Amino acid sequence: MKLISIGFWANTEDDRWPDVSDFVDHDWDADERHRIVSYLLGGFHAYAMMGPSHCRVCGKLNGSTELMDGTYVWPQGLAHYVQDHGVRLPKEFVDHAIDHQDRIDDAECDDSWWEQVRPE
Ligand SMILES: [Zn+2]
Repeated sequence: MKLISIGFWANTEDDRWPDVSDFVDHDWDADERHRIVSYLLGGFHAYAMMGPSHCRVCGKLNGSTELMDGTYVWPQGLAHYVQDHGVRLPKEFVDHAIDHQDRIDDAECDDSWWEQVRPE
């Protein structure tokens, strides 16, 4: 499985990532922003990083693991950038996350398998 990286930002040692300040958009719809923050916080823990990461904007300690959803992988602290610094993630990811959330919200529960299964 190959995961798509998102939300890794340039720092003094590594300039191959984009600059977080280029992604700031304070006009982004608040409801959509909130949904994306929830989505980012709800990822599965994928990897532990070598050490804690500091926020590129305010300097606070901002997570030490990476989260994933089976398609994308992002640093644990990405939600902080979106929530507190107005970082707007690309539409491609936003559409993916909202579609994923909608499918979970609309899911119906089928009890039939669990009603029948018994220990072997
Ligand atoms: Zn910050």
